[in-house]
Amino acid sequence: MKLINYTEKWVWEVLEEVLAEHPDVCCCEQCRYDMAALALNNLKPNYVISKHGQVYTKTKMLLQQNKTDVLTEVLKAVGKIHKNPHHLE
Ligand SMILES: [Zn+2]
Repeated sequence: MKLINYTEKWVWEVLEEVLAEHPDVCCCEQCRYDMAALALNNLKPNYVISKHGQVYTKTKMLLQQNKTDVLTEVLKAVGKIHKNPHHLE
């Protein structure tokens, strides 16, 4: 059995989508990790149990509702890092 933090999975997914739509935002490794960490610190973790690569469907469906919160936090994080990037010029 394995524990998967669904919030983390979503943050990376949503972050990729947001960055694809905003080519002006830096998407270097440093910025992407800063954005993901920032968003994840403001979100609740959603751990699910994975057994043989299968995640319990019931839990998964329930968690879909939180995806909107993920988008909100990712957008906030992207805006913040875009204004104050931590990467070296
Ligand atoms: Zn950068």
